[in-house]
Amino acid sequence: MRIQQCEACSHWIFYPRAHCPACASDKLVWRSISGNGTLYTFTVARVPTLPEFTDEMPQLLAVVQLDEGPHLNTTLVGAAPEAWKIGQPVRPVFDERPGNTTLLRYAPTDSSFPCVIAADVVAPTTAPAAEVEPAAHKRRISCKDLDAMQSLVSEAFGDWSNEFAVTQEVIGEFATLSGDDYWIHTNPERAKAQSPFGTTIAQGALVQVLISRLRLPLDYEIIDYTNMVNYGSDRLRFPTPVPAGCRIHARSRIKTVQQVKSGVLVTQELNIHVVGQDRPSVINDLLILYM
Ligand SMILES: [Zn+2]
Repeated sequence: MRIQQCEACSHWIFYPRAHCPACASDKLVWRSISGNGTLYTFTVARVPTLPEFTDEMPQLLAVVQLDEGPHLNTTLVGAAPEAWKIGQPVRPVFDERPGNTTLLRYAPTDSSFPCVIAADVVAPTTAPAAEVEPAAHKRRISCKDLDAMQSLVSEAFGDWSNEFAVTQEVIGEFATLSGDDYWIHTNPERAKAQSPFGTTIAQGALVQVLISRLRLPLDYEIIDYTNMVNYGSDRLRFPTPVPAGCRIHARSRIKTVQQVKSGVLVTQELNIHVVGQDRPSVINDLLILYM
Protein backbone atom coordinates (compact mmCIF):
# COMPACT_ATOMS: atom_id res chain seq x y z
CA MET A 1 0.00 0.00 0.00
CA ARG A 2 1.12 3.54 -0.66
CA ILE A 3 -0.21 6.85 0.67
CA GLN A 4 1.01 10.42 0.40
CA GLN A 5 3.35 12.11 2.88
CA CYS A 6 4.28 15.80 3.09
CA GLU A 7 8.05 16.31 2.65
CA ALA A 8 7.88 19.66 4.47
CA CYS A 9 6.16 18.61 7.72
CA SER A 10 6.04 14.76 7.48
CA HIS A 11 2.23 14.76 7.76
CA TRP A 12 0.65 11.57 6.33
CA ILE A 13 -2.23 12.23 3.91
CA PHE A 14 -5.25 10.23 2.86
CA TYR A 15 -7.19 10.67 0.54
CA PRO A 16 -4.80 11.88 -2.20
CA ARG A 17 -4.51 15.67 -2.44
CA ALA A 18 -2.48 18.34 -4.23
CA HIS A 19 -1.49 20.20 -1.05
CA CYS A 20 -0.69 19.18 2.53
CA PRO A 21 -3.75 19.85 4.73
CA ALA A 22 -1.42 20.57 7.68
CA CYS A 23 1.06 23.08 6.18
CA ALA A 24 -0.23 23.71 2.62
CA SER A 25 3.05 22.58 1.05
CA ASP A 26 2.76 21.02 -2.40
CA LYS A 27 5.85 18.83 -1.85
CA LEU A 28 3.92 15.59 -1.48
CA VAL A 29 5.43 12.15 -2.16
CA TRP A 30 4.00 8.62 -2.29
CA ARG A 31 5.46 6.30 0.37
CA SER A 32 4.98 2.58 0.97
CA ILE A 33 3.36 1.66 4.28
CA SER A 34 2.41 -1.64 5.91
CA GLY A 35 -1.30 -0.79 5.82
CA ASN A 36 -1.63 -1.96 9.43
CA GLY A 37 -3.79 0.00 11.83
CA THR A 38 -6.48 -0.19 14.47
CA LEU A 39 -10.25 -0.42 14.25
CA TYR A 40 -11.50 3.13 14.85
CA THR A 41 -15.22 2.39 14.56
CA PHE A 42 -17.63 0.11 12.73
CA THR A 43 -21.29 -0.63 12.14
CA VAL A 44 -23.23 -3.73 11.17
CA ALA A 45 -25.39 -3.13 8.06
CA ARG A 46 -28.17 -5.69 7.83
CA VAL A 47 -29.83 -4.18 4.75
CA PRO A 48 -27.66 -4.44 1.61
CA THR A 49 -26.23 -1.05 0.63
CA LEU A 50 -25.93 -2.26 -2.99
CA PRO A 51 -27.29 -5.34 -4.81
CA GLU A 52 -23.70 -6.60 -5.23
CA PHE A 53 -23.46 -7.05 -1.47
CA THR A 54 -26.49 -9.27 -0.94
CA ASP A 55 -24.35 -12.41 -0.79
CA GLU A 56 -22.31 -11.03 2.08
CA MET A 57 -24.71 -10.04 4.81
CA PRO A 58 -24.52 -8.58 7.33
CA GLN A 59 -21.96 -6.17 5.95
CA LEU A 60 -19.39 -4.67 8.34
CA LEU A 61 -18.73 -1.04 7.43
CA ALA A 62 -15.73 0.36 9.26
CA VAL A 63 -13.27 3.19 9.71
CA VAL A 64 -9.68 2.08 10.23
CA GLN A 65 -6.97 4.33 11.62
CA LEU A 66 -3.65 3.59 9.94
CA ASP A 67 -0.53 3.38 12.15
CA GLU A 68 0.59 6.58 10.35
CA GLY A 69 -2.56 8.40 11.49
CA PRO A 70 -4.99 8.81 8.58
CA HIS A 71 -8.47 7.28 8.73
CA LEU A 72 -9.98 5.33 5.84
CA ASN A 73 -13.39 3.84 5.13
CA THR A 74 -13.37 0.10 4.55
CA THR A 75 -15.22 -3.16 5.19
CA LEU A 76 -14.25 -5.90 7.63
CA VAL A 77 -13.67 -9.59 6.91
CA GLY A 78 -12.36 -12.56 8.86
CA ALA A 79 -14.44 -12.34 12.06
CA ALA A 80 -18.10 -12.46 13.10
CA PRO A 81 -19.82 -9.10 13.85
CA GLU A 82 -19.90 -9.75 17.61
CA ALA A 83 -16.18 -10.62 17.75
CA TRP A 84 -14.95 -7.17 16.72
CA LYS A 85 -13.70 -4.66 19.32
CA ILE A 86 -12.98 -1.00 18.71
CA GLY A 87 -9.25 -0.34 19.06
CA GLN A 88 -8.18 -3.84 18.05
CA PRO A 89 -5.22 -4.20 15.63
CA VAL A 90 -6.14 -4.85 12.00
CA ARG A 91 -4.24 -5.69 8.82
CA PRO A 92 -5.13 -5.13 5.13
CA VAL A 93 -6.80 -7.71 2.90
CA PHE A 94 -6.67 -7.20 -0.86
CA ASP A 95 -9.96 -8.33 -2.37
CA GLU A 96 -9.39 -8.74 -6.11
CA ARG A 97 -12.61 -8.23 -8.07
CA PRO A 98 -13.21 -9.34 -11.68
CA GLY A 99 -11.44 -6.82 -13.95
CA ASN A 100 -8.74 -4.55 -12.56
CA THR A 101 -10.36 -3.50 -9.29
CA THR A 102 -8.97 -4.42 -5.89
CA LEU A 103 -10.92 -3.57 -2.76
CA LEU A 104 -8.97 -2.72 0.38
CA ARG A 105 -10.60 -4.50 3.30
CA TYR A 106 -9.43 -5.30 6.81
CA ALA A 107 -9.13 -8.42 8.97
CA PRO A 108 -8.03 -8.93 12.60
CA THR A 109 -4.20 -8.94 12.75
CA ASP A 110 -4.22 -12.26 14.64
CA SER A 111 -6.70 -14.02 12.32
CA SER A 112 -5.71 -16.64 9.74
CA PHE A 113 -7.82 -14.92 7.07
CA PRO A 114 -5.90 -14.80 3.74
CA CYS A 115 -4.17 -11.53 2.78
CA VAL A 116 -5.51 -11.74 -0.77
CA ILE A 117 -8.97 -12.78 -1.95
CA ALA A 118 -8.49 -13.95 -5.56
CA ALA A 119 -11.05 -12.87 -8.17
CA ASP A 120 -13.44 -15.46 -9.54
CA VAL A 121 -12.54 -16.64 -12.99
CA VAL A 122 -15.12 -15.07 -15.27
CA ALA A 123 -15.90 -16.39 -18.74
CA PRO A 124 -14.70 -14.00 -21.47
CA THR A 125 -17.53 -11.67 -22.52
CA THR A 126 -16.78 -12.25 -26.21
CA ALA A 127 -17.93 -15.87 -26.00
CA PRO A 128 -21.35 -16.50 -27.56
CA ALA A 129 -24.06 -16.50 -24.90
CA ALA A 130 -24.94 -20.10 -25.70
CA GLU A 131 -21.47 -21.18 -24.57
CA VAL A 132 -21.33 -19.13 -21.39
CA GLU A 133 -21.61 -21.20 -18.25
CA PRO A 134 -23.65 -19.77 -15.39
CA ALA A 135 -21.48 -17.20 -13.60
CA ALA A 136 -19.19 -18.84 -11.10
CA HIS A 137 -20.28 -16.44 -8.41
CA LYS A 138 -24.03 -15.94 -8.84
CA ARG A 139 -25.58 -14.24 -5.85
CA ARG A 140 -28.09 -16.62 -4.31
CA ILE A 141 -31.03 -14.70 -2.91
CA SER A 142 -33.69 -16.26 -0.77
CA CYS A 143 -37.19 -15.19 -1.85
CA LYS A 144 -38.06 -15.16 1.85
CA ASP A 145 -35.54 -12.38 2.52
CA LEU A 146 -37.60 -9.35 1.45
CA ASP A 147 -34.75 -6.85 2.01
CA ALA A 148 -32.42 -8.85 -0.22
CA MET A 149 -35.18 -9.23 -2.82
CA GLN A 150 -35.88 -5.47 -2.71
CA SER A 151 -32.20 -4.80 -3.39
CA LEU A 152 -32.64 -6.36 -6.85
CA VAL A 153 -34.95 -3.50 -7.89
CA SER A 154 -33.09 -1.29 -10.36
CA GLU A 155 -33.64 1.48 -12.89
CA ALA A 156 -30.82 0.03 -14.97
CA PHE A 157 -31.22 -2.93 -17.31
CA GLY A 158 -28.91 -5.92 -17.14
CA ASP A 159 -26.68 -7.14 -19.97
CA TRP A 160 -28.03 -8.24 -23.36
CA SER A 161 -28.99 -11.82 -24.01
CA ASN A 162 -27.86 -13.95 -26.93
CA GLU A 163 -29.37 -13.11 -30.34
CA PHE A 164 -32.03 -15.00 -32.28
CA ALA A 165 -32.87 -14.66 -35.98
CA VAL A 166 -36.58 -14.13 -36.70
CA THR A 167 -36.63 -15.69 -40.18
CA GLN A 168 -39.59 -15.91 -42.57
CA GLU A 169 -39.60 -19.63 -41.77
CA VAL A 170 -40.06 -19.00 -38.03
CA ILE A 171 -42.83 -16.48 -38.78
CA GLY A 172 -44.49 -19.04 -41.10
CA GLU A 173 -44.37 -21.79 -38.45
CA PHE A 174 -45.97 -19.47 -35.92
CA ALA A 175 -48.64 -18.51 -38.48
CA THR A 176 -49.53 -22.18 -38.93
CA LEU A 177 -49.55 -22.89 -35.21
CA SER A 178 -51.49 -19.81 -34.08
CA GLY A 179 -53.69 -19.23 -37.11
CA ASP A 180 -52.38 -15.65 -37.37
CA ASP A 181 -51.45 -15.97 -41.07
CA TYR A 182 -52.35 -12.44 -42.17
CA TRP A 183 -50.46 -11.55 -45.39
CA ILE A 184 -48.49 -8.80 -43.65
CA HIS A 185 -46.65 -11.66 -41.87
CA THR A 186 -46.66 -14.45 -44.44
CA ASN A 187 -46.63 -13.04 -47.98
CA PRO A 188 -43.26 -11.43 -48.83
CA GLU A 189 -44.28 -10.42 -52.41
CA ARG A 190 -47.47 -8.68 -51.33
CA ALA A 191 -45.74 -7.13 -48.33
CA LYS A 192 -43.03 -5.70 -50.58
CA ALA A 193 -45.68 -4.05 -52.74
CA GLN A 194 -48.29 -3.03 -50.18
CA SER A 195 -46.92 -3.06 -46.62
CA PRO A 196 -45.75 0.24 -45.13
CA PHE A 197 -42.69 -1.70 -43.91
CA GLY A 198 -41.73 -2.96 -47.39
CA THR A 199 -41.33 -6.48 -46.07
CA THR A 200 -43.13 -9.00 -43.88
CA ILE A 201 -43.04 -8.48 -40.13
CA ALA A 202 -43.20 -10.93 -37.24
CA GLN A 203 -46.41 -11.33 -35.23
CA GLY A 204 -46.12 -9.35 -31.96
CA ALA A 205 -47.19 -12.43 -30.02
CA LEU A 206 -44.38 -14.42 -31.69
CA VAL A 207 -41.71 -11.92 -30.69
CA GLN A 208 -43.11 -11.88 -27.16
CA VAL A 209 -42.83 -15.66 -26.71
CA LEU A 210 -39.38 -15.79 -28.32
CA ILE A 211 -38.08 -14.55 -24.96
CA SER A 212 -37.78 -18.28 -24.26
CA ARG A 213 -35.03 -18.42 -26.94
CA LEU A 214 -33.14 -15.56 -25.30
CA ARG A 215 -31.05 -16.33 -22.25
CA LEU A 216 -30.77 -13.33 -19.96
CA PRO A 217 -27.38 -13.14 -18.23
CA LEU A 218 -28.64 -12.58 -14.68
CA ASP A 219 -26.00 -12.35 -11.96
CA TYR A 220 -28.35 -13.61 -9.26
CA GLU A 221 -30.42 -16.68 -8.60
CA ILE A 222 -33.60 -16.64 -6.54
CA ILE A 223 -33.84 -19.64 -4.22
CA ASP A 224 -35.96 -21.04 -1.36
CA TYR A 225 -39.32 -21.27 -3.14
CA THR A 226 -41.58 -24.29 -3.59
CA ASN A 227 -43.35 -22.84 -6.62
CA MET A 228 -42.63 -20.14 -9.18
CA VAL A 229 -45.76 -19.06 -11.03
CA ASN A 230 -46.01 -16.97 -14.19
CA TYR A 231 -48.76 -14.64 -13.05
CA GLY A 232 -49.17 -12.82 -16.36
CA SER A 233 -48.25 -9.33 -17.42
CA ASP A 234 -48.90 -5.87 -16.05
CA ARG A 235 -48.08 -4.18 -19.35
CA LEU A 236 -47.48 -5.53 -22.82
CA ARG A 237 -46.55 -3.22 -25.71
CA PHE A 238 -45.23 -3.73 -29.23
CA PRO A 239 -43.71 -0.27 -29.96
CA THR A 240 -41.85 -1.20 -33.18
CA PRO A 241 -42.19 -4.11 -35.62
CA VAL A 242 -39.62 -6.84 -36.20
CA PRO A 243 -39.11 -7.23 -39.97
CA ALA A 244 -38.54 -10.78 -41.22
CA GLY A 245 -34.86 -11.78 -41.16
CA CYS A 246 -33.92 -9.46 -38.26
CA ARG A 247 -32.02 -10.64 -35.24
CA ILE A 248 -33.48 -9.85 -31.81
CA HIS A 249 -32.04 -9.78 -28.31
CA ALA A 250 -33.37 -8.89 -24.87
CA ARG A 251 -32.48 -7.40 -21.53
CA SER A 252 -34.35 -7.06 -18.27
CA ARG A 253 -34.53 -5.37 -14.93
CA ILE A 254 -36.43 -5.98 -11.72
CA LYS A 255 -39.04 -3.22 -11.50
CA THR A 256 -40.82 -4.01 -8.23
CA VAL A 257 -40.79 -6.58 -5.44
CA GLN A 258 -43.89 -6.84 -3.25
CA GLN A 259 -44.89 -9.06 -0.38
CA VAL A 260 -48.34 -10.43 -1.17
CA LYS A 261 -50.58 -12.82 0.71
CA SER A 262 -49.39 -15.94 -1.10
CA GLY A 263 -45.71 -15.08 -1.48
CA VAL A 264 -43.41 -12.54 -3.13
CA LEU A 265 -44.54 -10.90 -6.36
CA VAL A 266 -41.72 -9.75 -8.65
CA THR A 267 -42.29 -7.50 -11.68
CA GLN A 268 -39.57 -8.16 -14.25
CA GLU A 269 -39.50 -5.70 -17.15
CA LEU A 270 -38.40 -7.53 -20.29
CA ASN A 271 -37.46 -5.50 -23.35
CA ILE A 272 -36.88 -7.22 -26.68
CA HIS A 273 -35.12 -5.15 -29.36
CA VAL A 274 -34.09 -5.66 -32.95
CA VAL A 275 -30.29 -5.79 -32.64
CA GLY A 276 -28.94 -2.25 -33.06
CA GLN A 277 -32.28 -0.50 -32.49
CA ASP A 278 -32.84 1.83 -29.53
CA ARG A 279 -36.61 1.44 -29.42
CA PRO A 280 -37.82 -1.90 -28.13
CA SER A 281 -40.11 -4.16 -30.16
CA VAL A 282 -41.64 -5.70 -27.05
CA ILE A 283 -42.03 -4.27 -23.56
CA ASN A 284 -43.39 -6.84 -21.13
CA ASP A 285 -43.79 -6.26 -17.39
CA LEU A 286 -43.84 -9.90 -16.41
CA LEU A 287 -45.30 -10.87 -13.04
CA ILE A 288 -43.62 -13.78 -11.30
CA LEU A 289 -44.97 -15.09 -8.02
CA TYR A 290 -42.56 -16.96 -5.74
CA MET A 291 -44.38 -19.13 -3.21
ZN1 LIG B 1 2.87 19.48 5.50
